Amino acid sequence: MSKRLIVLKPRLTPMDVRTARPAPKQPDAVLVSSAWQQLVERAIQVRGRRCERCGKTHEDDGAPVKLIGDHIHERRDGGAELDPANVQLLCARAGGDGRQHADGASGGCHARKTSEARRRRLGGL
Ligand SMILES: [Zn+2]
Repeated sequence: MSKRLIVLKPRLTPMDVRTARPAPKQPDAVLVSSAWQQLVERAIQVRGRRCERCGKTHEDDGAPVKLIGDHIHERRDGGAELDPANVQLLCARAGGDGRQHADGASGGCHARKTSEARRRRLGGL
């Protein structure tokens, strides 16, 4: 006959000791606008469903590539919001299941481009 181990619920809940809480994440007004979504859909129709950086059209599992409309000249750097000439279609995932690209980089082209732009902004390159 085995003894039962009774687990009691903790009486204390962890206290939030952060002195400053991050602001709740707000959806970007431009990126959720129908004007923006139509612009991206139109770009896919005109240019084809293909990453404009690496050329990927499908994931390794055969699913069509997920594309993100990306501002070439980023808005926070003064780029035009709704000008198709300032929009490129970039893949959201690396090859297949988040594996690395052939050049060894990881992440989809959109994530890579975004981090490159951030690095440039911070480093002044
Ligand atoms: Zn890509």
